[in-house]
Amino acid sequence: MPVVKSRKQIPAPKATPEAMAKLRHVGLRPTRQRLALAGLLFGEHDRHVSAEELHAEAGKSGVRVSLATVYNTLHQFTEAGMLRELSVDGARTYFDTNLGDHHHFYCEEDGELIDIEGDSISVAGVPLPPAGSKLSRVDVIVRVSRK
Ligand SMILES: [Zn+2]
Repeated sequence: MPVVKSRKQIPAPKATPEAMAKLRHVGLRPTRQRLALAGLLFGEHDRHVSAEELHAEAGKSGVRVSLATVYNTLHQFTEAGMLRELSVDGARTYFDTNLGDHHHFYCEEDGELIDIEGDSISVAGVPLPPAGSKLSRVDVIVRVSRK
């Protein structure tokens, strides 16, 4: 019988200085898991990810983290102002790294979100918010289907 060697460990993504700086900036302690998830989220391009997608990516890159931890971390990042949460329909929540003024196309078949520049949509006639509340933001989701 051959000696069973321990499974080869895939190195976790390097904690980027950018991820470290982002966490420090918002006052979140840069734990190993937060750094790894921030490293996956904040790359060269803005992105829209669900907790499940990020969990799968983490697994592929050798980051051992539970789905519950991914959820909690995404919500902590959102509360800290690093992400914007987008509820497209009851069942699907996405997290957007683009904090700028923009809206979305949403493809109903595959769930893809595509940014629409904020100034290319104008929303007219937004009613006054109910007494005791103020307007935070208007999100426009334009639903599309593939031809
Ligand atoms: Zn977006």
